[in-house]
Amino acid sequence: MSVVRQLKYRIQNGELSIVDLVKSSLKKAKEKSNLNCFISLFEDKALEHAYNIQERVKKGEELKLFGLPVAVKDNINVKGSETTCGSNILKGYVSPYNATVVEKLIENGAVIAGKANMDEFAFGSTNETSAFGPVKNPYDETRVSGGSSGGSAVSVAADIVPFALGSDTGGSIRQPAAFCGVVGVKPTYGRVSRYGLVAFGSSLDQIGPFSYDVYGASILLDAISGFDEKDSTSINKPSNFEPELRDLKGIKVGVINEFADQIQSDEVKGVYYKVLDFLKASGAEIVELELPHIKYSIASYYIVATSEASSNLARFDGVRYGNRVNSDNVKDMYFKTRSEGFGEEVKRRILLGTFALSSGYYDAYYLKALGVRKLIAKDFEKAFSGVDIIFTPATPTTAFKLGEKLDNPLEMYLSDIFTVPVNLAGLPALTLPIEFSKEKLPIGMQFISKWFDEKTMFDIAYTVEDYYKFYEKAGYGRF
Ligand code: GLN
Repeated sequence: MSVVRQLKYRIQNGELSIVDLVKSSLKKAKEKSNLNCFISLFEDKALEHAYNIQERVKKGEELKLFGLPVAVKDNINVKGSETTCGSNILKGYVSPYNATVVEKLIENGAVIAGKANMDEFAFGSTNETSAFGPVKNPYDETRVSGGSSGGSAVSVAADIVPFALGSDTGGSIRQPAAFCGVVGVKPTYGRVSRYGLVAFGSSLDQIGPFSYDVYGASILLDAISGFDEKDSTSINKPSNFEPELRDLKGIKVGVINEFADQIQSDEVKGVYYKVLDFLKASGAEIVELELPHIKYSIASYYIVATSEASSNLARFDGVRYGNRVNSDNVKDMYFKTRSEGFGEEVKRRILLGTFALSSGYYDAYYLKALGVRKLIAKDFEKAFSGVDIIFTPATPTTAFKLGEKLDNPLEMYLSDIFTVPVNLAGLPALTLPIEFSKEKLPIGMQFISKWFDEKTMFDIAYTVEDYYKFYEKAGYGRF
């Protein structure tokens, strides 16, 4: 049975107390500090909160998240604590308000255990760009966690917390979920309020859940989603995602052959075809899709995302937020603050984005990229007129070695090849861990569903999960 469901029953029948669970989480977080998945830990606050929730539950209140601890990525504001975005420029910045998702976590009875490490401003695929040092993969500490939500993924994969929130602009939830063997979901654009999330690429960013299993991810997403008047791009849609086993007979599963050809690891390829065989054997119909513009995804993404990032990061100038390097004139103060505060990858992206938006290049790069983005979304729209779900690998390889791709940004960017098109189109997608490789590294696959049809995605992933039961092999949920 789902690990998160088991925790729920143990709490409901009094076998496990919320306070003990939170204590155990905090203890594990400290024991596993070498993984570097937390930037800050909320020891006293979390315990106080756990006592409160325990009282609420005793009084008979039914809480969607029933006291489970959650790690929150450090680009999401939690009132009264630091929001660093993994950057030197924001070290010491204390948020005066809660992000909407944080309000919702509290309302639904989750206990915030701490803030999770991440690539600086969420730019990266390995967590190595964090000013707080890299996060290590719990299955092999010489390897990366993936990124940019590496701390969130590892906090769950190392069995410290059952829940975490991350943000996904081009794969930052789904890629680390695959590298670390946990479930990670990027919701439909607009499903979750972005109020209180430090913006990277505003038209691509979504906050989403990590958990041990599909059930856990579905209830966490349910708890944080919904319309928010503070985010005009959020939308009110029904959100009961609680997954059910589905008869796969007759379900139409789309596959993208170009993706299969780009899998670099034989073992990832092997698992991809194995799951396809399972789907076929269960009666699903496999449909080969034509997505003629998908090959331009990485090019289009790295123009749109860097353009939006260069504009969003203009606010970090030493005046309003975080650290300042003083000087005798204001221009020099901006220059020194930004030179010292931002890391190399952030500077690279600001330069790329500013170039793409500059007069003379705007039409040739930025507008062109927006046009391509529209064509990619249209390709998906057409594809979904004939299929219920699209099945792809989540990553071309398993987790790579720390440092392996640091000197080659382009190669690093190409590791997002299966996740980026989903953000360009605004679609929902889920990473499901399936098996371990020979070296005991997790291998995950991706399910993409129609806009706002997360329910189908959860149901199908839940059915596949029920067959492979990765969470049992991983031994999650030991509290
Ligand atoms: N790895 C991608 C990038 O570096 C995605 C990041 C993200 O989703 N935040 O932009």
